Amino acid sequence: MPTYQAPTRDMQFIVNELLELSNQTHLAGMEDVSSDLAGSLIEESGKFASEVIAPLNQSGDRQGATHHPDGSVTLPDGFKEAYNALREAGWSTLVQPQRYGGQGLPHALGMAVDEFLSGANQAFAMLPGLTVGAAAAISATGSDQLKDLYLPRLISGQWSGTMNLTEPQCGTDLGLIRTKAEPQADGTFTITGTKIFISGGEHDATENIIHLVLAKTPGAPEGTKGISLFVVPKILVDGNGTLGEANNVSCGSIEEKMGIHASPTCVMNYDGARGWMVGEENKGLAAMFIMMNSARLHVGVQGLGQAEAAFQNGVAYAKDRRQGRALTGPAEPGEPADPIIVHPDVRRMLMDAKAFTEGMRALSIWTAFQIDIAERSPDEKAREAAQDLIELLTPVIKGYGTDRGYAVATDMQQVLGGHGYVVEWGMEQFVRDARITMIYEGANGIQAMDLCGRKLAMHGGRAIRSFFALVDAECADIPDDARYATIAASLKRANGDLKTATMWFMQNAMGNPNNLGSGAYHYMTMMGITSLALMWLRMAKIAAIRLADGEGDKAFYEAKLTTAQYFAQNALVDVGALRRKLEAGSSAVMALPPDSFSFA
Ligand SMILES: Cc1cc2nc3c(=O)[nH]c(=O)nc-3n(C[C@H](O)[C@H](O)[C@H](O)COP(=O)(O)OP(=O)(O)OC[C@H]3O[C@@H](n4cnc5c(N)ncnc54)[C@H](O)[C@@H]3O)c2cc1C
Repeated sequence: MPTYQAPTRDMQFIVNELLELSNQTHLAGMEDVSSDLAGSLIEESGKFASEVIAPLNQSGDRQGATHHPDGSVTLPDGFKEAYNALREAGWSTLVQPQRYGGQGLPHALGMAVDEFLSGANQAFAMLPGLTVGAAAAISATGSDQLKDLYLPRLISGQWSGTMNLTEPQCGTDLGLIRTKAEPQADGTFTITGTKIFISGGEHDATENIIHLVLAKTPGAPEGTKGISLFVVPKILVDGNGTLGEANNVSCGSIEEKMGIHASPTCVMNYDGARGWMVGEENKGLAAMFIMMNSARLHVGVQGLGQAEAAFQNGVAYAKDRRQGRALTGPAEPGEPADPIIVHPDVRRMLMDAKAFTEGMRALSIWTAFQIDIAERSPDEKAREAAQDLIELLTPVIKGYGTDRGYAVATDMQQVLGGHGYVVEWGMEQFVRDARITMIYEGANGIQAMDLCGRKLAMHGGRAIRSFFALVDAECADIPDDARYATIAASLKRANGDLKTATMWFMQNAMGNPNNLGSGAYHYMTMMGITSLALMWLRMAKIAAIRLADGEGDKAFYEAKLTTAQYFAQNALVDVGALRRKLEAGSSAVMALPPDSFSFA
């Protein structure tokens, strides 16, 4: 049976030492965020995730969600009670605005809790995760009436939220949406159409489910310019939130799928359901993007969560399982064989996992902190710079974070050998659950195109230029210390490769957009590695200072320095190779006619 312990020690390091969250008193509303408060929130939420949510992960996978003939769906045993416990503990209200019943705490702390919940049980964590996203979309674009009615109940978790984009003929290309919204005399709309793959579309954990639905009004412009967003409650409510009759929306079926069995993936039928427009007509996609961006960061952290859970179990196994002898001679001569952690190839996988999970944790929390700066800083320039970084890094965290999260999960499965493949040990569930993170919320290829096609050019390249400057400044600020001077040198080289690749796009993609399309994935990976290395360099600097001062946990800081070096030697070097792949361009990628792929 696999286990999960929320990585609270590492999270404390990131929040209190890397970000120094308690020193950010210049940010509005953060005056009272002491390191004690942050520390106890991290410990308590970690305990909750490890003790209440994680024990339901394997049973939830085996039992799965169940669809009944009347269209209702029940979650696996224990999920409803755990959801209520989550609500009571207030973990879903942490970062939400106080005006609507939230606690107004920093996103950096919200992201920490997000990782713990996703690592403990990804399928469970989707329910509060999507609800938070739905609240964000209504909060940003809804009328005061919609906000007052829905936000307090979504934020408290009394009602849950969903995101309805996908239709049978329309996944990535939302311009193909067919769901219709007919205006009614009372200002509401009648929504008709079928949505597929809707996570949490129906379940028994909350008394109402608030669907955010993309649909087209009559005569709307073609494509994505003619999409509007609607709020469609499962149960109609009056202005006070009192539940009334059922709306004309039903769950036709749920998908049988590879993983996240406890999360119902629903076919939702809207048969003239009553809906209310959110924001302006034909501006629905922009409004939905608020929800999607929040969800993309959440999905990136799901990849990290699965990697962390798999890593913990891989380490435990590698210390316990005895096979063969260390290449340098028996490590434990009194035993019939050494634990497999002595083998360099097993170590390679464990070090890859450690370097990714700790680096990605730092990157995701640091990016969440940029949201805090963007929302709370009194300095307009600082807000703008933070917003640029969020937009630039969101597709990287989603795309690179989930690619590597999945790779780490399969590596940890490999550490268990044959036992990694059988159900009893639970490693195969981490792999199955992690796999979807690379697909939903925009497949990773689409994240790469978002990064290279939109984000690089954003504001005349302002965001990527400040990213380059940030990395260069970090590399320049290096006291004469061999332990991280080599990391800084490798990072500077990688940043140079990234700059050259950006320039190559500018020179070669304008005339031939396929050169952008074929190189985008490589670029996203280069950017992911470079961003993690930036975090590793910062962490290495802190660790070196603590060690020099003789402060704190020596083994912890020594491990940080060593892992930073490992990442520089083993991951950063890939950036140069990826640049060369990118610069090969699209000619060979696109040369074959489709018929050359036939097998007859
Ligand atoms: C378990 C699960 C839960 C989900 N939850 C939700 C949910 O809650 N709400 C919701 O609305 N949807 C949800 N989805 C749908 C999910 O977001 C889509 O499956 C995903 O966005 C991809 O769309 P698609 O499956 O139609 O693939 P397609 O769009 O058909 O894409 C297929 C492949 O082609 C590539 N591709 C497509 N177009 C391009 C292009 N222009 N350039 C380059 N490559 C391209 C894609 O990257 C992908 O690899 C869920 C799906 C699953 C499986």
